[in-house]
Amino acid sequence: MTNQFELKRVLVTGGAGFIGSHLCERLLDQGHEVLCVDNFYTGRRSNVAHLLARPKFELLRHDVTFPLYVEVDEIYNLACPASPIHYQFDPVQTTKTSVHGAINMLGLAKRVKAKILQASTSEVYGDPAMHPQRESYWGNVNPVGIRSCYDEGKRCAETLFFDYHRQHNLRIKVARIFNTYGPRMHPNDGRVVSNFIVQALRGEDITIYGQGQQTRSFCYVDDLVEGLMRLMATDDDFTGPVNIGNPGEFSIRELAEKVLAMTHSSSQLVFRPLPSDDPVRRCPDISLAQSRLGWSPTVQLETGLGRTIDYFTQAIA
Ligand code: NAD
Ligand code: UDP
Repeated sequence: MTNQFELKRVLVTGGAGFIGSHLCERLLDQGHEVLCVDNFYTGRRSNVAHLLARPKFELLRHDVTFPLYVEVDEIYNLACPASPIHYQFDPVQTTKTSVHGAINMLGLAKRVKAKILQASTSEVYGDPAMHPQRESYWGNVNPVGIRSCYDEGKRCAETLFFDYHRQHNLRIKVARIFNTYGPRMHPNDGRVVSNFIVQALRGEDITIYGQGQQTRSFCYVDDLVEGLMRLMATDDDFTGPVNIGNPGEFSIRELAEKVLAMTHSSSQLVFRPLPSDDPVRRCPDISLAQSRLGWSPTVQLETGLGRTIDYFTQAIA
């Protein structure tokens, strides 16, 4: 085993996805060996193509709902489609990925005595009755709706993490990630930031679901990755769950107007039906991350949007 100052062998499941690809890159930059495991359900080889030539990087096509036998020191379990459109396309597979995937990765962590971090989500709070959301809030989740495959799958994964911790003494870390955006989101990802930017750049209508009064808090991917890595490096007695997100709260309409202004687009705002169970408000209380990880986001929405717009300008040209 290695201590926190040594170079490690790190497994990143979902490593060819949006967040995972940034995490793999940061880990390699710190000198670690990185094993990126992905079934390319929503991720792409092109997200990690620039890492393939690096000697400490390895890419393995594998579905985490099946057991995996590798030797590693740390595991970041990110495998799971994150966009509502994609996780609702095959909801049974989404739940399997969260639940069977967690069991398989926890089993692996137990066998090789690895430390393991779960990419959980603000969706565990559902349509929250507490605002901003703190980790002590148990949530308001519909167990039988169209978002449930994701929300309940992630909640069950958290349960599994804590039971492996209590029952098998596993070193676990649970991060509750709030809406994150940045370069390498898929142009057809379906999430709001990528949708609005791509629509604005193409001069297509900007699709606001509902009246656009619902709010979200948007975290730039570099900040998020920093938070995940700091969480992994905490003492073994700190398990989380810990919110990682940017507390700047914006309505979806405000976001659309910002994107329009920043892209100088002539796209029109159009209003579409609000999907069922769409949370009304979402904003993290990050005091736990601030005190235990010494972490706060540093990238303002305008700055992060600017970088993301630059990325999509190239990506969809
Ligand atoms: P993403 O869809 O870009 O990445 C997910 C990756 O997991 C993809 O590469 C996909 O191919 C892979 N994957 C899916 N099912 C798999 C399986 N069965 N086996 C192996 N690989 C599989 O999404 P993302 O935004 O990068 O999200 C990464 C993680 O962070 C997810 O677990 C997501 O739930 C969590 N998260 C993300 C956000 C966000 O705003 N981006 C918010 C909360 C939580
Ligand atoms: N949304 C929207 N137009 C879009 C895509 C999303 O108005 O083209 C809204 C969606 O209804 C939700 C918010 O933006 O209220 C964030 O949606 P996203 O899918 O990005 O993430 P989540 O709902 O999981 O937070």
